[in-house]
Amino acid sequence: MIIPDTISVTELANRMAERTADVVKELMKLGVMATATQAVDGETAELIAQELGHRAQRVSDSDVESGLEGADDDEASLKPRPPVVTVMGHVDHGKTSLLDAIRRTDVAAGESGGITQHIGAYQINTASGNLITFIDTPGHEAFTEMRSRGADITDVVILVVAADDSVMMQTVEAINHAKAAGCPVIVAVNKCDKPEADPKQVRNDLLQHEIITEDFGGDVLCVDVSAITGQGLDKLEEAIMLQAELLELKANPDRAATGVVVEAKVERGRGSVATLLVQRGTLKQGDIFVIGAESGRVRALLDDRGKTLKVAVCEDPPTILATPLPRTGLDCRF
Ligand code: GDP
Ligand code: MG
Repeated sequence: MIIPDTISVTELANRMAERTADVVKELMKLGVMATATQAVDGETAELIAQELGHRAQRVSDSDVESGLEGADDDEASLKPRPPVVTVMGHVDHGKTSLLDAIRRTDVAAGESGGITQHIGAYQINTASGNLITFIDTPGHEAFTEMRSRGADITDVVILVVAADDSVMMQTVEAINHAKAAGCPVIVAVNKCDKPEADPKQVRNDLLQHEIITEDFGGDVLCVDVSAITGQGLDKLEEAIMLQAELLELKANPDRAATGVVVEAKVERGRGSVATLLVQRGTLKQGDIFVIGAESGRVRALLDDRGKTLKVAVCEDPPTILATPLPRTGLDCRF
Protein backbone atom coordinates (compact mmCIF):
# COMPACT_ATOMS: atom_id res chain seq x y z
CA MET A 1 0.00 0.00 0.00
CA ILE A 2 1.04 3.58 -0.70
CA ILE A 3 1.23 6.20 2.03
CA PRO A 4 1.47 9.90 1.15
CA ASP A 5 3.01 12.68 3.29
CA THR A 6 -0.19 13.00 5.30
CA ILE A 7 -3.26 10.80 5.36
CA SER A 8 -6.58 10.80 7.17
CA VAL A 9 -7.26 7.99 9.60
CA THR A 10 -10.26 6.84 7.56
CA GLU A 11 -8.27 6.82 4.34
CA LEU A 12 -5.46 4.91 6.02
CA ALA A 13 -7.95 2.34 7.24
CA ASN A 14 -9.48 2.10 3.76
CA ARG A 15 -6.16 1.49 2.10
CA MET A 16 -5.40 -1.34 4.50
CA ALA A 17 -8.97 -2.64 4.37
CA GLU A 18 -9.02 -2.39 8.17
CA ARG A 19 -11.73 -0.95 10.38
CA THR A 20 -11.26 2.71 11.28
CA ALA A 21 -11.82 1.89 14.95
CA ASP A 22 -8.90 -0.57 14.89
CA VAL A 23 -6.64 2.05 13.37
CA VAL A 24 -7.68 4.58 16.02
CA LYS A 25 -6.87 1.95 18.67
CA GLU A 26 -3.44 1.27 17.17
CA LEU A 27 -2.76 5.01 17.10
CA MET A 28 -3.65 5.23 20.78
CA LYS A 29 -1.10 2.54 21.56
CA LEU A 30 1.48 4.82 19.96
CA GLY A 31 0.20 7.70 22.07
CA VAL A 32 -1.46 9.44 19.15
CA MET A 33 -5.01 10.57 19.83
CA ALA A 34 -6.74 11.02 16.47
CA THR A 35 -10.34 10.83 15.31
CA ALA A 36 -11.40 9.23 12.04
CA THR A 37 -11.35 12.47 10.07
CA GLN A 38 -8.04 13.75 11.41
CA ALA A 39 -4.84 13.39 9.44
CA VAL A 40 -1.66 11.72 10.63
CA ASP A 41 1.79 12.11 9.13
CA GLY A 42 3.25 9.54 6.78
CA GLU A 43 5.74 8.23 9.32
CA THR A 44 3.03 7.46 11.87
CA ALA A 45 0.85 5.92 9.17
CA GLU A 46 3.73 3.69 8.12
CA LEU A 47 4.22 2.45 11.70
CA ILE A 48 0.52 1.66 12.00
CA ALA A 49 0.56 -0.19 8.69
CA GLN A 50 3.50 -2.32 9.79
CA GLU A 51 1.87 -2.94 13.15
CA LEU A 52 -1.21 -4.28 11.36
CA GLY A 53 0.89 -6.47 9.08
CA HIS A 54 0.84 -4.43 5.86
CA ARG A 55 3.67 -3.57 3.55
CA ALA A 56 3.78 0.18 3.24
CA GLN A 57 5.53 2.38 0.73
CA ARG A 58 5.97 6.08 1.49
CA VAL A 59 5.35 8.35 -1.46
CA SER A 60 5.55 12.12 -1.38
CA ASP A 61 4.11 14.49 -3.98
CA SER A 62 7.45 14.88 -5.69
CA ASP A 63 8.01 11.12 -5.95
CA VAL A 64 4.67 10.63 -7.60
CA GLU A 65 5.62 13.08 -10.31
CA SER A 66 8.74 11.18 -11.25
CA GLY A 67 9.03 7.86 -9.44
CA LEU A 68 5.98 5.86 -10.41
CA GLU A 69 6.08 6.64 -14.07
CA GLY A 70 8.00 3.51 -14.85
CA ALA A 71 10.66 2.85 -17.44
CA ASP A 72 10.50 4.23 -20.94
CA ASP A 73 8.93 1.89 -23.44
CA ASP A 74 11.30 0.28 -25.86
CA GLU A 75 10.80 0.86 -29.57
CA ALA A 76 9.49 -2.65 -30.29
CA SER A 77 6.57 -2.31 -27.88
CA LEU A 78 5.22 0.85 -29.54
CA LYS A 79 2.10 0.67 -31.68
CA PRO A 80 0.48 3.44 -33.78
CA ARG A 81 -2.01 5.52 -31.82
CA PRO A 82 -4.63 8.15 -32.73
CA PRO A 83 -3.68 11.83 -32.51
CA VAL A 84 -4.69 14.00 -29.55
CA VAL A 85 -6.05 17.29 -30.77
CA THR A 86 -6.71 20.23 -28.45
CA VAL A 87 -9.03 23.00 -29.50
CA MET A 88 -7.86 26.43 -28.37
CA GLY A 89 -8.75 30.03 -29.12
CA HIS A 90 -10.44 33.16 -27.85
CA VAL A 91 -13.60 32.87 -25.75
CA ASP A 92 -16.80 32.70 -27.83
CA HIS A 93 -14.97 32.00 -31.05
CA GLY A 94 -16.77 28.65 -31.15
CA LYS A 95 -14.42 26.03 -29.68
CA THR A 96 -17.14 24.10 -27.90
CA SER A 97 -19.60 24.46 -30.79
CA LEU A 98 -17.00 23.18 -33.22
CA LEU A 99 -16.24 20.18 -31.02
CA ASP A 100 -19.92 19.36 -30.72
CA ALA A 101 -20.32 19.67 -34.51
CA ILE A 102 -17.38 17.32 -35.09
CA ARG A 103 -18.75 14.89 -32.55
CA ARG A 104 -22.02 14.78 -34.45
CA THR A 105 -20.11 13.49 -37.51
CA ASP A 106 -18.97 10.41 -35.56
CA VAL A 107 -20.21 7.27 -37.25
CA ALA A 108 -21.80 6.09 -34.00
CA ALA A 109 -23.49 9.42 -33.28
CA GLY A 110 -26.66 8.59 -35.19
CA GLU A 111 -27.20 5.24 -33.51
CA SER A 112 -26.94 6.44 -29.93
CA GLY A 113 -29.40 9.29 -30.40
CA GLY A 114 -26.97 12.18 -30.56
CA ILE A 115 -25.19 14.13 -27.90
CA THR A 116 -26.76 14.39 -24.50
CA GLN A 117 -24.13 16.40 -22.69
CA HIS A 118 -20.96 18.22 -23.41
CA ILE A 119 -17.74 16.57 -22.30
CA GLY A 120 -14.21 17.96 -22.24
CA ALA A 121 -12.61 15.10 -24.11
CA TYR A 122 -13.82 12.43 -26.47
CA GLN A 123 -12.72 10.26 -29.33
CA ILE A 124 -14.44 10.09 -32.69
CA ASN A 125 -14.44 7.49 -35.38
CA THR A 126 -14.75 9.45 -38.62
CA ALA A 127 -16.65 8.35 -41.70
CA SER A 128 -13.33 7.70 -43.42
CA GLY A 129 -12.29 5.40 -40.58
CA ASN A 130 -9.91 7.64 -38.66
CA LEU A 131 -9.78 7.76 -34.87
CA ILE A 132 -9.14 11.22 -33.43
CA THR A 133 -9.08 12.26 -29.78
CA PHE A 134 -10.34 15.79 -29.09
CA ILE A 135 -9.86 17.94 -26.00
CA ASP A 136 -11.74 21.17 -25.29
CA THR A 137 -10.15 23.95 -23.27
CA PRO A 138 -12.14 26.24 -21.01
CA GLY A 139 -12.08 29.77 -22.39
CA HIS A 140 -11.93 31.80 -19.20
CA GLU A 141 -8.77 33.71 -18.40
CA ALA A 142 -8.40 31.93 -15.06
CA PHE A 143 -7.66 28.73 -16.93
CA THR A 144 -4.36 29.84 -18.40
CA GLU A 145 -2.53 27.09 -16.58
CA MET A 146 -4.95 24.42 -17.72
CA ARG A 147 -4.66 25.69 -21.27
CA SER A 148 -0.90 25.61 -21.22
CA ARG A 149 -1.09 22.02 -19.96
CA GLY A 150 -3.49 21.33 -22.81
CA ALA A 151 -0.72 22.20 -25.24
CA ASP A 152 1.62 19.82 -23.40
CA ILE A 153 -0.55 16.74 -23.67
CA THR A 154 -1.60 17.36 -27.23
CA ASP A 155 -0.12 16.41 -30.60
CA VAL A 156 -1.88 19.05 -32.67
CA VAL A 157 -3.48 22.36 -31.63
CA ILE A 158 -6.54 23.52 -33.52
CA LEU A 159 -6.58 27.27 -33.25
CA VAL A 160 -10.16 28.45 -33.59
CA VAL A 161 -10.47 32.03 -34.80
CA ALA A 162 -13.88 33.56 -35.47
CA ALA A 163 -14.04 35.03 -38.98
CA ASP A 164 -16.10 37.98 -37.69
CA ASP A 165 -13.75 38.85 -34.81
CA SER A 166 -10.28 37.77 -36.00
CA VAL A 167 -7.22 37.49 -33.76
CA MET A 168 -7.90 38.38 -30.10
CA MET A 169 -6.01 38.20 -26.81
CA GLN A 170 -6.52 34.50 -26.10
CA THR A 171 -5.83 33.68 -29.73
CA VAL A 172 -2.34 35.06 -29.20
CA GLU A 173 -2.06 33.26 -25.87
CA ALA A 174 -2.98 29.97 -27.53
CA ILE A 175 -0.38 30.54 -30.25
CA ASN A 176 2.25 31.07 -27.55
CA HIS A 177 1.24 27.92 -25.66
CA ALA A 178 1.43 25.88 -28.84
CA LYS A 179 4.85 27.33 -29.68
CA ALA A 180 6.15 26.71 -26.16
CA ALA A 181 5.00 23.09 -26.36
CA GLY A 182 6.49 22.71 -29.85
CA CYS A 183 3.07 21.66 -31.08
CA PRO A 184 1.97 22.08 -34.71
CA VAL A 185 -1.02 24.37 -35.24
CA ILE A 186 -3.93 24.01 -37.64
CA VAL A 187 -6.07 27.14 -37.99
CA ALA A 188 -9.83 26.69 -38.12
CA VAL A 189 -11.45 29.94 -39.24
CA ASN A 190 -14.90 29.52 -37.72
CA LYS A 191 -18.27 31.26 -38.21
CA CYS A 192 -17.70 31.45 -41.96
CA ASP A 193 -21.49 31.24 -42.37
CA LYS A 194 -21.85 34.79 -41.05
CA PRO A 195 -22.38 37.54 -43.64
CA GLU A 196 -19.71 39.72 -41.98
CA ALA A 197 -17.16 36.87 -41.97
CA ASP A 198 -13.73 37.87 -43.29
CA PRO A 199 -11.49 34.77 -43.35
CA LYS A 200 -8.84 36.64 -45.36
CA GLN A 201 -8.46 39.19 -42.56
CA VAL A 202 -7.86 36.34 -40.08
CA ARG A 203 -5.03 34.92 -42.19
CA ASN A 204 -3.60 38.40 -42.52
CA ASP A 205 -3.73 39.14 -38.78
CA LEU A 206 -2.07 35.81 -37.98
CA LEU A 207 1.03 36.84 -39.93
CA GLN A 208 2.04 39.18 -37.13
CA HIS A 209 2.21 36.20 -34.80
CA GLU A 210 4.35 34.12 -37.14
CA ILE A 211 1.46 31.90 -38.14
CA ILE A 212 1.96 31.89 -41.89
CA THR A 213 -0.83 30.01 -43.62
CA GLU A 214 -0.49 28.26 -46.95
CA ASP A 215 -2.21 31.13 -48.78
CA PHE A 216 0.69 33.34 -47.73
CA GLY A 217 3.30 30.78 -48.73
CA GLY A 218 3.70 29.34 -45.23
CA ASP A 219 3.18 25.78 -44.03
CA VAL A 220 0.35 26.24 -41.53
CA LEU A 221 -2.81 24.47 -42.67
CA CYS A 222 -5.86 26.73 -42.48
CA VAL A 223 -9.45 25.64 -43.04
CA ASP A 224 -12.62 27.75 -43.29
CA VAL A 225 -15.35 26.14 -41.20
CA SER A 226 -18.73 26.72 -39.61
CA ALA A 227 -19.85 24.91 -36.50
CA ILE A 228 -23.42 25.85 -37.39
CA THR A 229 -23.62 24.64 -41.01
CA GLY A 230 -20.89 21.99 -40.81
CA GLN A 231 -18.99 23.62 -43.69
CA GLY A 232 -15.36 22.54 -43.91
CA LEU A 233 -15.42 19.89 -41.16
CA ASP A 234 -14.28 17.20 -43.61
CA LYS A 235 -11.36 19.41 -44.70
CA LEU A 236 -10.46 19.96 -41.06
CA GLU A 237 -10.35 16.20 -40.50
CA GLU A 238 -8.10 15.82 -43.54
CA ALA A 239 -5.76 18.49 -42.22
CA ILE A 240 -5.59 16.78 -38.82
CA MET A 241 -4.79 13.38 -40.32
CA LEU A 242 -2.17 14.92 -42.60
CA GLN A 243 -0.48 16.60 -39.66
CA ALA A 244 -0.75 13.45 -37.53
CA GLU A 245 0.85 11.30 -40.20
CA LEU A 246 3.94 13.50 -40.14
CA LEU A 247 4.24 12.99 -36.38
CA GLU A 248 4.28 9.14 -36.54
CA LEU A 249 2.49 8.82 -33.21
CA LYS A 250 3.08 5.68 -31.17
CA ALA A 251 2.50 4.33 -27.68
CA ASN A 252 2.79 1.05 -25.81
CA PRO A 253 -0.67 -0.36 -24.98
CA ASP A 254 0.65 -3.37 -23.03
CA ARG A 255 1.60 -1.80 -19.72
CA ALA A 256 0.03 -0.19 -16.66
CA ALA A 257 -1.71 2.99 -17.74
CA THR A 258 -0.51 6.55 -17.20
CA GLY A 259 -2.40 9.66 -18.18
CA VAL A 260 -3.76 13.05 -17.32
CA VAL A 261 -6.99 14.29 -15.70
CA VAL A 262 -8.79 16.48 -18.22
CA GLU A 263 -11.91 17.18 -16.16
CA ALA A 264 -13.01 16.25 -12.66
CA LYS A 265 -16.19 16.91 -10.77
CA VAL A 266 -18.58 15.48 -8.22
CA GLU A 267 -21.88 14.45 -9.76
CA ARG A 268 -25.02 13.88 -7.77
CA GLY A 269 -25.79 10.18 -7.64
CA ARG A 270 -22.50 9.19 -9.22
CA GLY A 271 -19.88 10.65 -6.90
CA SER A 272 -16.40 11.47 -8.17
CA VAL A 273 -16.29 11.60 -11.94
CA ALA A 274 -13.20 12.33 -13.99
CA THR A 275 -12.39 12.44 -17.65
CA LEU A 276 -8.91 11.11 -18.27
CA LEU A 277 -6.62 10.94 -21.20
CA VAL A 278 -4.84 7.60 -21.15
CA GLN A 279 -1.42 8.33 -22.64
CA ARG A 280 0.26 4.95 -22.27
CA GLY A 281 -0.90 1.47 -21.44
CA THR A 282 -4.37 0.10 -20.83
CA LEU A 283 -6.71 1.16 -18.06
CA LYS A 284 -9.13 -1.34 -16.55
CA GLN A 285 -12.06 -1.17 -14.22
CA GLY A 286 -10.88 -1.88 -10.68
CA ASP A 287 -7.38 -0.48 -11.29
CA ILE A 288 -5.80 1.46 -8.46
CA PHE A 289 -4.79 5.00 -9.40
CA VAL A 290 -2.35 7.48 -7.93
CA ILE A 291 -2.90 11.16 -8.62
CA GLY A 292 -0.66 13.59 -6.80
CA ALA A 293 -0.70 12.32 -3.22
CA GLU A 294 -4.15 10.77 -3.59
CA SER A 295 -4.95 7.26 -4.55
CA GLY A 296 -8.12 5.32 -5.14
CA ARG A 297 -9.79 2.77 -7.30
CA VAL A 298 -11.48 3.06 -10.68
CA ARG A 299 -15.04 2.02 -9.91
CA ALA A 300 -16.28 2.19 -13.48
CA LEU A 301 -15.14 3.23 -16.94
CA LEU A 302 -17.48 4.98 -19.35
CA ASP A 303 -17.13 6.29 -22.87
CA ASP A 304 -18.26 9.80 -23.84
CA ARG A 305 -21.81 8.57 -24.40
CA GLY A 306 -22.09 6.98 -20.99
CA LYS A 307 -21.61 3.41 -22.18
CA THR A 308 -19.66 1.14 -19.85
CA LEU A 309 -16.19 0.15 -21.03
CA LYS A 310 -14.11 -2.81 -19.92
CA VAL A 311 -10.79 -1.24 -20.84
CA ALA A 312 -9.42 2.02 -22.24
CA VAL A 313 -6.20 2.08 -24.25
CA CYS A 314 -3.67 4.75 -25.19
CA GLU A 315 -5.14 8.12 -26.16
CA ASP A 316 -8.62 7.04 -25.20
CA PRO A 317 -10.37 9.65 -23.11
CA PRO A 318 -12.62 7.57 -20.86
CA THR A 319 -14.76 8.96 -18.09
CA ILE A 320 -14.08 7.16 -14.83
CA LEU A 321 -16.09 6.92 -11.68
CA ALA A 322 -13.54 6.85 -8.94
CA THR A 323 -12.79 7.22 -5.28
CA PRO A 324 -11.61 9.75 -4.25
CA LEU A 325 -11.84 12.74 -6.57
CA PRO A 326 -8.93 13.14 -8.99
CA ARG A 327 -7.83 16.72 -9.49
CA THR A 328 -7.83 18.44 -12.86
CA GLY A 329 -4.53 18.86 -14.62
CA LEU A 330 -2.61 16.32 -12.57
CA ASP A 331 -0.83 13.34 -13.99
CA CYS A 332 -2.24 10.02 -12.92
CA ARG A 333 -0.83 6.51 -12.86
CA PHE A 334 -2.59 3.21 -12.59
P1 GDP B 1 -16.20 28.98 -27.06
O1 GDP B 1 -16.22 29.94 -25.92
O2 GDP B 1 -15.02 29.23 -27.95
O3 GDP B 1 -16.32 27.55 -26.64
O4 GDP B 1 -17.46 29.34 -28.00
P2 GDP B 1 -18.87 28.62 -28.09
O5 GDP B 1 -18.78 27.33 -28.81
O6 GDP B 1 -19.50 28.61 -26.74
O7 GDP B 1 -19.64 29.61 -29.08
C1 GDP B 1 -19.86 30.98 -28.76
C2 GDP B 1 -21.06 31.50 -29.55
O8 GDP B 1 -20.77 31.51 -30.94
C3 GDP B 1 -22.30 30.66 -29.39
O9 GDP B 1 -23.42 31.53 -29.29
C4 GDP B 1 -22.38 29.86 -30.68
O10 GDP B 1 -23.70 29.54 -31.05
C5 GDP B 1 -21.75 30.82 -31.68
N1 GDP B 1 -21.10 30.09 -32.76
C6 GDP B 1 -20.16 29.11 -32.64
N2 GDP B 1 -19.76 28.67 -33.85
C7 GDP B 1 -20.47 29.35 -34.77
C8 GDP B 1 -20.51 29.34 -36.22
O11 GDP B 1 -19.81 28.60 -36.91
N3 GDP B 1 -21.35 30.23 -36.81
C9 GDP B 1 -22.15 31.09 -36.10
N4 GDP B 1 -22.95 31.91 -36.77
N5 GDP B 1 -22.14 31.11 -34.75
C10 GDP B 1 -21.31 30.27 -34.08
MG1 MG C 1 -16.26 26.66 -24.72
